Amino acid sequence: MTKYHPDTRFLTDYSAGSLPESQALCVAAHLHYCPACRTKVSELTQVGSEIFLSQEREEVSEDCFDRIMAKLSDLPATDTQSESSTSASLAATGQVIEPEPAKDKYVNDLPRAIQKLTGGSIEKMRWRKIGKSFRYSDINMGDDKRETSLLHIKAGGNVPKHQHGGDEITVILKGSFSDQEDHYHVGDYIVRTSGEMHTPVASQDEDCLCLATLDAPIVMNNWFYRLLAPLF
Ligand SMILES: [Zn+2]
Repeated sequence: MTKYHPDTRFLTDYSAGSLPESQALCVAAHLHYCPACRTKVSELTQVGSEIFLSQEREEVSEDCFDRIMAKLSDLPATDTQSESSTSASLAATGQVIEPEPAKDKYVNDLPRAIQKLTGGSIEKMRWRKIGKSFRYSDINMGDDKRETSLLHIKAGGNVPKHQHGGDEITVILKGSFSDQEDHYHVGDYIVRTSGEMHTPVASQDEDCLCLATLDAPIVMNNWFYRLLAPLF
């Protein structure tokens, strides 16, 4: 089902714990939906720890998923049931299981880190609207080089046409969208590089929820949004 995956560089850096946290959150979200990449990450982690142990007899540092969850620990905790294999192995190492608040059905099958961000309901988050069908909610990952957000596009609606000043990673969490290049589904990990212009449109039958992180602010091409941009 998932067609677009993080490349080997992303998976290797994720396994080594050297990806910036905002990008690691995107990889962790993809891993929730993609057994093939989960297998690759566990193989890479295994290889990495063997190399590490053969060099120094020290404790292996906490893994990337642990780091992300620690980052999000100030936010209200949510469910711990639907975990990736990465987090399942963490549970086995004695990770503290947090209390479970009430949550709506919509967030039930989202990746665990995203569930935590939503506090159990996406409507509890602070959203900013752009146009009739698009809104976003900023996520503070403590990374001043990147902006990380949840994006919500109403069924049939679109993200205003924009150009990227930097690289953008988008992971689809719910629904699907299309742009000039392809149609993308839940779990897809889409990388857009600087200078590319696109107008994602959500499918008609379902709202689309995405996680996105970008290196530099996007440039809205419509004059109206350009005028409004400083307000956001
Ligand atoms: Zn994958």
